[in-house]
Parts: sequence; C-alpha cells; structure tokens
Amino acid sequence: MMDESLAQAVRDFAGRRGSLVGFAPVDRFENAPEGHHPGDLCRRAATVIVLARPLPRGMLSSPRYPLYALHRAYHSVYPRLDNEGLDLALFLETEAGVPAVPVPSYAPMVYQSMEPWGLLSLKHAAVRAGFGVFGRNQIVHHPRYGSMLRFGAVVTAAPLPGDPVMDHDPCPPDCRACHRACAAKAWGEDERFDKTACMRKTIKHAIYPMALKDEAGLKNIERVVNTAGYNYWLDCDRCLKVCPNNRWPQDSSGENAADAPNR
Ligand code: SF4
Ligand code: SF4
Repeated sequence: MMDESLAQAVRDFAGRRGSLVGFAPVDRFENAPEGHHPGDLCRRAATVIVLARPLPRGMLSSPRYPLYALHRAYHSVYPRLDNEGLDLALFLETEAGVPAVPVPSYAPMVYQSMEPWGLLSLKHAAVRAGFGVFGRNQIVHHPRYGSMLRFGAVVTAAPLPGDPVMDHDPCPPDCRACHRACAAKAWGEDERFDKTACMRKTIKHAIYPMALKDEAGLKNIERVVNTAGYNYWLDCDRCLKVCPNNRWPQDSSGENAADAPNR
C-alpha cells in the first residue's frame, strides 16, 4: 500500500536540506540493463527516490572562469547529494523500518567494455521520477533549470506514489547547437552519442595517462577511476553553454554562447 505520510516526510526531509525530490516506482524500470536495475541495489525494491540539485547557470557565462566554476560546482554538489542520500536511507530505515540503499551520485562506477556505468542510471531515474525529459545533449532537461540539475538517489522497499512523468521534446525543433559546438565531435551523422569521445575530451586527470599506458593499467581502470580518479579536471562545457534551455528565461542574447575562454 502507498504510504502518503511517508512520502510527505521524505519531501520535508529533502526540502529542509535544499534538494528537489521525485518518486519513481520500480515498475518504471522494467527495461533497465542487466545489473543496473533498482532490484540489484536493494532487496524488495519498490521505489527510487531521486534527489536533485541545480547548478547556477551564471557559471556558463562567466567572462573568464566558466570551467573553474563548473569544476568546483560538480565536485561540491556530488558529495552533498551522496551525504543526503545516506541520511535519507538511514531516515527511512529508522523511521519507517524499511531497507534503503543510497545510490552514488557519480563514482563508484562499474566498467563495461571500457565504458563507465553508474550502478543505476540516475539520468533515467530522474526522467522516471518526473524531473524532465532527455534533450539532444543526452542530459535531462527540467522546465525551470534546463540541463543544470545533478542527481542522487535512494532505492527503498517502501512503496511511494510515483510523480507524473513528463512527455515532451524539450529542444526547439531545428536546434542542434550542442552537436555543432561539440569539441570532440561526439555526435555522428546519425546523431548517436559517443560517450567515450566526450570523456576523452572532457575528463582530465593526472593519473589517467599512467593508468591507460599498458594492459595492467587498462584492467585496473575501474579501481583508478573509483579512487584517485574521482576528482577529475573538467575540460569542456560547450554543449551546456550553447544550449538555449540553460540561458536566463528572459535572455535572448545568446550570452552563454559567447566565446568565453574555457578556463
Ligand atoms: S562536454 Fe564537450 S566533448 Fe562532451 S559532449 Fe559536450 S561539447 Fe562534446
Ligand atoms: S542545444 Fe539545442 S538541441 Fe542541444 S540540448 Fe540544447 S536545446 Fe536541445
């Protein structure tokens, strides 16, 4: 049975900490890839509670330091989401007596065919919890925050009422600004996204070249990424900058798309 009072208690809990919250019942994850289903994280999983925090979009039009600001924001927001997920899981176990497992907001990740995967896809969970819809930049677009939300989650055995899922195209029909601006040409002619090409350009860390130089390093990349590689340097924000959904609502000047230096 749905527990409305527990749902409200979770909303209050997240609201006091400054996060947005949405509920995705587990039956919305039928097509999750093997090993990445909510049930792989929590026994008797019934609901994925998604937490979200926006990043300030003013960073994208910073005249001199957009990447410095974005880098710090990413690495500040992920620990907050992780701490909040941990607190919320304990709250659910203590107050409601149900198992709950926090989902990492970024790493640890697991590597499949050399591609990093989250334990659970938080972007897909966010869509299923009603936060927004995927845009053509492969990121979730929220009606108010554009693609500037970052996500954490808790999987729990508590059945909570699902939030309505959005179903619209968040991108203007002819817009491909993110594809054209991509520094790594990560979108091919068929519009398929090459995650590895983006990561090669975007994620820079001193230890990566060493980890990737031989077979042993390659084999251990998951361990490297999940430990020393966690706090990487970010080297590209072009798709975020040029996206009209990330501008101030009243701003039609294209200010974010200005050629601000990348550091
Ligand atoms: S972050 Fe940079 S490299 Fe990655 S998709 Fe966006 S524009 Fe392309
Ligand atoms: S730049 Fe245009 S196509 Fe790309 S995500 Fe933003 S609105 Fe969509």
